[in-house]
Amino acid sequence: MTSEEQRRTQRNNLQFRYNMTPEQFKVLCDKYQGRCWICLRRPKLKQVDHDHACCPDRRSCGKCVRGILCTTCNNKLLGQVCQETKRGKAHAIMVLERGIRYLNGEL
Ligand SMILES: [Zn+2]
Ligand SMILES: [Zn+2]
Repeated sequence: MTSEEQRRTQRNNLQFRYNMTPEQFKVLCDKYQGRCWICLRRPKLKQVDHDHACCPDRRSCGKCVRGILCTTCNNKLLGQVCQETKRGKAHAIMVLERGIRYLNGEL
């Protein structure tokens, strides 16, 4: 693929899945200098995270895009540990808050 084709593919994917332009994607990436918004590592593959309470599918309406995450934070932390997709945002926040309290020796 030429870089022009790659750009077009990226544009189509972003538009199709997140209702987002490459320019909007770049703004999100630049917020933490290309790092994952949660763990601040520099992921090879950046994932656009959206609120599944709004759009339960893999596609987002664009309004519920939350930020840029690495695959570990998106799939393992939010998906598996917090079970956000399955049990909702309030449950995910409860798990994270208890995690903090646990590390602080408060539980
Ligand atoms: Zn991360
Ligand atoms: Zn949505």
